[in-house]
Amino acid sequence: MNSQFLAELRQAATVRLSEPMSRHTTFGIGGPADAYAVARSEEQLQALTDVAHRHAVPFFILGSGSNILVSDGGIRGLVIENRSDRIDQPIRQGNGSLLVRAQSGISLAGLARRLSPAGLSGLEWACGIPGSLGGAVIYNAGAYGGCLADCLRSVRVTNSSTEVAELAANELALGYRGSAFTRGVLQEKVILSADLILHEDDPQALTARIAELDARRQAAQPRERNAGSVFKNTPEHPAWRLIDQVGLRGHRIGDAQISPKHTNFIVNCSHARASDVKALMVLAQERVEERFGLRLEPEVMLVGEGFDG
Ligand SMILES: Cc1cc2nc3c(=O)[nH]c(=O)nc-3n(C[C@H](O)[C@H](O)[C@H](O)COP(=O)(O)OP(=O)(O)OC[C@H]3O[C@@H](n4cnc5c(N)ncnc54)[C@H](O)[C@@H]3O)c2cc1C
Repeated sequence: MNSQFLAELRQAATVRLSEPMSRHTTFGIGGPADAYAVARSEEQLQALTDVAHRHAVPFFILGSGSNILVSDGGIRGLVIENRSDRIDQPIRQGNGSLLVRAQSGISLAGLARRLSPAGLSGLEWACGIPGSLGGAVIYNAGAYGGCLADCLRSVRVTNSSTEVAELAANELALGYRGSAFTRGVLQEKVILSADLILHEDDPQALTARIAELDARRQAAQPRERNAGSVFKNTPEHPAWRLIDQVGLRGHRIGDAQISPKHTNFIVNCSHARASDVKALMVLAQERVEERFGLRLEPEVMLVGEGFDG
């Protein structure tokens, strides 16, 4: 790696070389990133992306690593872990609604759990989603009938330290587990913060709703390491049912297994490799296509050498 690039990077943050991505993904899987730096503020996030841009080094923004499968070969270039997590004081909008601006590295579930006891409603559905707010915008994260698009007003995005643009939610093409960030148009942009519109409600009722959703999630999801739903549901059928019907419940390749508890989850039983998970994904896609003529589309993003392109 170019020494001038590394020197400039080190002025912006502490840099680790050949950092195993298995330490930074909920799957616990992934080969090394050439260089790895943590941004603890928006300014640091911008500074790091700016250095990468100036040196034409590819970079990858990591939220909580809860929706990615990183290849065994790892990630070439720079990984920037985004931990910018400031929340601004809510601004009253009238009609009992409030505007909350939060930086993109904040934990989505943490934010939901903080807002509810304060009597701010709109994010309860997110209380069990382990990603960052930035990652939630990218995928229009959702659960239990709610999704980010319901309360997202706008985002601030950048592609260098000098250019920041504000985009309204309706410019982001938010859809079922996707957006203009996943479909290419905004792919190069880094989300700095998001503005959410929330509503005043009874704190006790909101806290009770969160407890109810926690219990439902605990009953439905496996405990082993995973990255949430592997495939998107098709318009007609939930992905888990299709995978179950082709006989793959509990099927194992290496240390990766289609969860016996929830067949749209692949779990890392102990030392699974990315290639094991990928092989299970391909097997599920082939069997479902053969039997039902339907193509399962991955919800989990495949990242890194060997998965590119
Ligand atoms: C146990 C479990 C349960 C889950 N349940 C749900 C669920 O109910 N509903 C649901 O929708 N999802 C669920 N997920 C999936 C996941 O939590 C969400 O997709 C989440 O929004 C991903 O956020 P992240 O910060 O972890 O993103 P990462 O996995 O770190 O990154 C995903 C992508 O987003 C990009 N990205 C992240 N932050 C930024 C940023 N600031 N700017 C630009 N690009 C960025 C990354 O570069 C990458 O391309 C679950 C996952 C797990 C492990």
